[in-house]
Amino acid sequence: MATLDFDVIVVGGGVAGAACAALLAQQQRRVALVDARRPSFRPAEGRFDPRVVAISPGSRRVLAAAGGWQLLSAERLASYRRMAVHAAALSVHFNAADHGLLELGWIVEIPAMEDALWQSLDGLERVTIFAPAAWERVDLGAETVRLSLTDGQTLRSALLVAADGARSRLRRLAGVATDEWHYNQRALIAPVRTEQANTGLAWQRFTEHGPLALLPLPDGRSSIVWSQPSDRALALQTASEGDFLADINNHQDAPLGAIIGVGQRHALPLVRRRARRLFRDRLVLLGDAARTVHPLAGQGLNLGLMDAATLVEVLEAWKSGSPAQELERYQRWRQSNGTLIGGGIHAINELVRAPGGLGRHALGAGFGIATRLWPLREAFVQRACGIDSDSPRLARSGCAA
Ligand SMILES: Cc1cc2nc3c(=O)[nH]c(=O)nc-3n(C[C@H](O)[C@H](O)[C@H](O)COP(=O)(O)OP(=O)(O)OC[C@H]3O[C@@H](n4cnc5c(N)ncnc54)[C@H](O)[C@@H]3O)c2cc1C
Repeated sequence: MATLDFDVIVVGGGVAGAACAALLAQQQRRVALVDARRPSFRPAEGRFDPRVVAISPGSRRVLAAAGGWQLLSAERLASYRRMAVHAAALSVHFNAADHGLLELGWIVEIPAMEDALWQSLDGLERVTIFAPAAWERVDLGAETVRLSLTDGQTLRSALLVAADGARSRLRRLAGVATDEWHYNQRALIAPVRTEQANTGLAWQRFTEHGPLALLPLPDGRSSIVWSQPSDRALALQTASEGDFLADINNHQDAPLGAIIGVGQRHALPLVRRRARRLFRDRLVLLGDAARTVHPLAGQGLNLGLMDAATLVEVLEAWKSGSPAQELERYQRWRQSNGTLIGGGIHAINELVRAPGGLGRHALGAGFGIATRLWPLREAFVQRACGIDSDSPRLARSGCAA
């Protein structure tokens, strides 16, 4: 069968890969997007997908530049303007307005973002979608990449973007080693109803078992993410509603009153992964294929979207020939940022697991200092929002050039 030529092949049309494909097409590149599945999203009123994530203002700009944000339904978005984090007896509070922002972030369903980005991709002439599609072989040559699909078609390009998720097959086949930390923790996630409606508060407490977050949903409920030892998370997943509510209310003092109802619970295993390099020859890693981080700071997908925007920015300089110089720049930029954020999150998680609650007291003391030092708070907000000087241009300004 025929060999089809592209400038770039993107494997993996999750949020990070789909955004990258759209942004590359805007750079006038011919893009093939290959995914094992076509995302499907069937929104039902009053029901939210359990995979909701916090999206930063910087990431929102990247999603908008990729044409996805505009297609999200406003009724399914919950913005938050206030954030409170508690450890031991101390806490730190953030207000969007204090930092010149309208919002600190939005809680969005992952399938909704995928659906919106794929709708946007469907309208782009330069993007050819192969989905659902399976591939059986990849040849990473010095000047070209070939991806053989199981239906007999071969795709050929000068660059291959691996956005195929945490267990990236492409990363493995390219021989890129990873460092992994298995936390023996699971994140218990579920929608909950509190006595007072949640109208825009992102709240977190570092409990004796691990961080518990309540994030706003558009209908006034909250989505919880409670990371804790795996056996405890699994027991709470299947506990009766009454036992679950008694347990969680012993550990939360959010200003929303007691938790009075819970929806379907899931318990997801937590692993930190870090690829030792972000490119090899003409293959480049982004999103969860490049790294996964503990969810306590809600940064995983935000990092993936920054990868996409950074890659597109460094590739502006690449017209033909080897992209090695540009990929080196991408790797330096994203590895230092990923190590700082991923390493910082990892360090906090290890600290608060210290026996006797000492780590939580130490973290609380850190909050006390952060509360008094305005420049530190400002720097923290800018970084967490993806709009600091280390963020790609699209995230800072939203402009393509
Ligand atoms: C409990 C929890 C809470 C989280 N909260 C947040 C949060 O608040 N904020 C945040 O930013 N992040 C959060 N994250 C992280 C976030 O969910 C992930 O970082 C993000 O979803 C990864 O997106 P991705 O596009 O990189 O990968 P994926 O979503 O995994 O997409 C990979 C794509 O590749 C395709 N694929 C895989 N293998 C192949 C193959 N062989 N061939 C073809 N296609 C393939 C898949 O079908 C899929 O479409 C959280 C994670 C967890 C576990």
